[in-house]
Amino acid sequence: MFRALIVDKTEDGGTEAGVQEIPPDRLPEGEVTVAVEYSTVNYKDGLCVGPGGGLVRSYPHVPGIDFAGTVESSDDARYSPGDRVVLTGWRVGEAHWGGFAEKARVKADWLVPLPSGLSTFQAMAVGTAGFTAMLAVMTLEDHGLRQGQGPVLVTGASGGVGSVATALLANLGYEVAAVTGRPENAEYLIALGASRIVPREDIAETVKRPLETETWAGCVDAVGGPMLARVLGQLKYGAGAAAVGLTGGTDLPAKIVPFLLRGVNLLGIDSVMQPQDARARAWRRIAQELPLDMLEEMVQTAALADVPRLGAEILEGRLRGRVVVDVT
Ligand code: NDP
Repeated sequence: MFRALIVDKTEDGGTEAGVQEIPPDRLPEGEVTVAVEYSTVNYKDGLCVGPGGGLVRSYPHVPGIDFAGTVESSDDARYSPGDRVVLTGWRVGEAHWGGFAEKARVKADWLVPLPSGLSTFQAMAVGTAGFTAMLAVMTLEDHGLRQGQGPVLVTGASGGVGSVATALLANLGYEVAAVTGRPENAEYLIALGASRIVPREDIAETVKRPLETETWAGCVDAVGGPMLARVLGQLKYGAGAAAVGLTGGTDLPAKIVPFLLRGVNLLGIDSVMQPQDARARAWRRIAQELPLDMLEEMVQTAALADVPRLGAEILEGRLRGRVVVDVT
C-alpha cells in the first residue's frame, strides 16, 4: 500500500480531497514506476486539487503536476532502479495521475534524469514554476536579451515563477525590476536580487497611451491581462515580453502600435509539451545558474495533507515563493 492524495467527486457535483492508502495495482499504465520523494504546489495544482478548472480528465484522481524521486522499476532501457528523475508537464497531475503520492507510474518519455548538483528536494523547489521561468529567460535570450541593455521586468514577482525568474536573472547579471501587489514582500524580492520594486497599481491599469516611455529591456510576465498589455507599450525598441501566466486575466487588451513602431515581441512560453532537448537544457542551466541559497530563501515545506489548503491559497495569490511537498 502507498499513500496518495485522492480527489473525488461529491454527490453535490463538487470535489473533495484527502490522503488515502491505496494498493500499487491502482497505478495507471506506464513504463516507469517512481518512488516519489517530493512534489510541489503550482497554480495548476490549486485548480486540480479543487474543482478541476476543466483540467482533470476523470475521477478519482491523484493531482500533482511535478515530482522528483527515484526509479523503482522500469520497462524502458533508458531508466534503471535507483536513477534519480524529475517530471514536469505532459499533463501529468491533470489527465494522468500525478506526484501527490508516494508512487507514480508514467511514460519513460516524460521523465528527465536529474542533473548532477541538484537534489530531488531542490528540483521540486524549482518545479514547473521555476522550470518555466528558466524557459522564459532562455527564450528572451534567444531573441537578443543581453546584460547591460536595461532593466528586465518580472511581474507577479513574489509568486513561484516570479521568484525564480528574479533570482535567475539577477544571478545572470541582469538588472531586475520586480512588480508586486504585496509591498510587504519588497525585502524578500530585494534579497532574491531585484534592484527595483514596481508597485502593482503603477502598471495594472488598462492601456491609455499605446506607447509609453521605453523602459524595459525584456519582461518575464506571470500575470497577463491588462498588465501585460501595458508592458508591451513600455518595452524598449525590439525587446520581448515572455508571456507565462494569467493570474491577472485571460484577455490581452493591448494596442498593435508597439509591435509596428517599436518592433516589440510577444513570446509565448509553454512548459507542458516542451520538447525533451529543451527540457534537459533548461534543467542543466537551472543546476548551474540558479543560486541554491536563493532557492532556500523562497521555499516552505509541507506535507501531503496540507496540499488542499495550499492549493486554495495559491489560487488566491496568497502564497509566496515555492512550496515543496514531502510526500513520504
Ligand atoms: P503564484 O500564485 O505563485 O504567483 C502568481 C503571482 O501573481 C502572485 O504571487 C502575485 O504576485 C501575482 N498576482 C496574483 N493575482 C494577481 C492579479 N489579480 N493581478 C496581478 N498580479 C497578480 O503562481 P505561479 O508563479 O506558480 O504561476 C503564475 C502563472 O503562470 C499562473 O497563471 C500559472 O498558471 C502560469 N504558469 C504557466 C506555465 C506555462 O507553461 N506557461 C507554467 C507555470 C505556471 P505579487 O503578490 O508579487 O503581485
